[in-house]
Amino acid sequence: MLTATDKAAATQEASLDPEDWDGLRALGHRMVDDALDYLRSVRERPAWQSPPPAARDRLRGSAPTQGQGAEAAYREFVENVLPYPTGNIHPRFWGWVIGSGTPLGALTEMLAATMNPNVGGFDDAAGLLEDQVLDWWKELLGYPKSASGLLVSGGSMANLVGLAVARHAQAGFDVRKAGQAAAPRPMRLYASTEVHSSVGKAMELLGLGRDALHLVPVDAEYRIDIPALEKAIADDRRAGTQPFAIVGSAGTVNTGAIDDLEALGALCRREGLHFHVDGAVGALGALSPDLRPRLRGMEKADSIAFDPHKWGHFPYEAGCILVRDAEKHLATFAAQADYLAKSEGGIAGGGKRFADRGPQLSRGFRALKIWMVMKATGTNRLGASMAQNVAQAAYLAQRVEAEKELELLAPVPLNIVCFRYRGKPAVADADALNRALVVAIQEAGIAVPSSTILGGRYAIRVCINNHRTRREDLDLFLRETLRLGRDLQVKEAHGHR
Ligand SMILES: *Cc1c(COP(=O)(O)O)cnc(C)c1O
Repeated sequence: MLTATDKAAATQEASLDPEDWDGLRALGHRMVDDALDYLRSVRERPAWQSPPPAARDRLRGSAPTQGQGAEAAYREFVENVLPYPTGNIHPRFWGWVIGSGTPLGALTEMLAATMNPNVGGFDDAAGLLEDQVLDWWKELLGYPKSASGLLVSGGSMANLVGLAVARHAQAGFDVRKAGQAAAPRPMRLYASTEVHSSVGKAMELLGLGRDALHLVPVDAEYRIDIPALEKAIADDRRAGTQPFAIVGSAGTVNTGAIDDLEALGALCRREGLHFHVDGAVGALGALSPDLRPRLRGMEKADSIAFDPHKWGHFPYEAGCILVRDAEKHLATFAAQADYLAKSEGGIAGGGKRFADRGPQLSRGFRALKIWMVMKATGTNRLGASMAQNVAQAAYLAQRVEAEKELELLAPVPLNIVCFRYRGKPAVADADALNRALVVAIQEAGIAVPSSTILGGRYAIRVCINNHRTRREDLDLFLRETLRLGRDLQVKEAHGHR
C-alpha cells in the first residue's frame, strides 16, 4: 500500500530526459545540419583564429544553477565556441601531429554517447566491438591474433601501458606489490634522443624517473645509433644497472624518422629485453602497401603504441596499445575486488575484462568510431590517404629545396618537413626571424605549421597529417611564407620587429 507521502513523492520524480521530445528532435536535426555545413565549408575559413575578447568574456562566469534550456545553450555554442576550433579540421593545419577527424566519425560519436556503455568488461556489444577492432589492428600491423590490446586515450597512455607491461615482465620481483623501491638494481630504458616526451613522462609515472631513460644519439637520418645503443647497454650492465627495454620510434615527432626496427628487435632478443615501439606518428602507415615496408620489424615488437586519432583521423580520443604476450598484459593490470567479481552468466559473466588491461575502470565507447569509419571507408582508402600525405611532404621538400630563400633542415622520410627562411642575402638572426614568421603565418590564418629545434637551429615544422590537404594548399603556404619572410627581413634590416 502506498501512503499519501509515497504518492506525493512519486508525482515529483523527474528524470533528466527532455519534457519536449519533439523540440529536442528538431534541435538535434539542426545540430546535425549545422555540423555537416560547418565541416563542408571548413576550407573557406581561416586555418586558425584566436578567440576574441568578447567570446572569452562570455565563456567565463559561475555555474548555472537554473537551466536556460537546450536551444539557448546551443545558441551560445554556435556563437562563442564553434567559430574558434584548434584548426586541425582545416586543410592547412600541419602543426604538431594532429588528426583531422571525419564527418562520419563525428556523427558516430553521437551514437556512442547514445548507447553510453561503460566498456570495462560486460557482456555487451561494445565489448565485442572493441575486441573486433583490436583484432583488426593486430591483423593490419602484422601481429599475432593471440596478442592482447586496449583502446586508450592516446599515444601517451599507450606508451605508459606498454612500458608498465615491460617493467612488470622484466623486473624479476613483484613490482606491483613491493613498488620500484624494492628493485635490487636500478632499471634502465633505452631510446633515441628523438624519442617523444611521453616516454619520459611514463618513466616518471612508473616511479623509475627520467634519469632511468638512457637517451642514445641519432645518426644523420635522425635514427637511433645502434652501435652507440649496444655500447650503452653493455656499459650500464657493467655499472650494475638492469636494462629492461628499448623503445623504437616508428616515426619520430621531429622529422618522421623511423628507427631500424628489425635491428632493435634482434638486439632486444639477444639481450633479453622488452621491445616497445612508439608508433604514434607512423605505425598506421602499415595500412598503405607503399609505406608498410618502411615499418619492417615493427611486427616483432613486444608492444606497439599507436594513435588512431592522428593519421587514422578517428575523432579524439583514440589511442591503442597492442601487447604480444596477453598473459603479461593481464598480469600487469588485473585487479581483484569483491565488487568486481565475475559471475556465472549474467551481464558480469561474459565479455573481456578491458579494465584488467590498463589503469581505467570505467571506459568510453572508443571502438565504435573506429569500427564504423573503418567499415564505411575501408583500410585501402585510409592507407591511400596516408601515402598521399607522404607524397605531398616530398613535394613540399622539393619545392623548398628549389627555393633559394628557403633551406631544408632535415631529411623527409615520411610526412614531416622541417625548413626555414634564410633570405637572400641571408638574414642576420634566422632563429628570431623564423620564430616570428611561424607566429605571423598562424595569426594571418593562412596555415598552422608548428616549430622545433634541429641541431640547435629553429625550424618551421610542417607535419602533413591531413586528409583535406591539397598541393595547392602547400603552394599557397610557400607563397605566403616567402612574402611574410621578406616583410620580416625588411623590418629586421630597419631594426624594428
Ligand atoms: C603524439 C605522440 C605521442 C603522444 O600521443 P598522444 O595521443 O598525444 O597522447 C607519443 N609519441 C609520439 C611519437 C607522438 O607523436
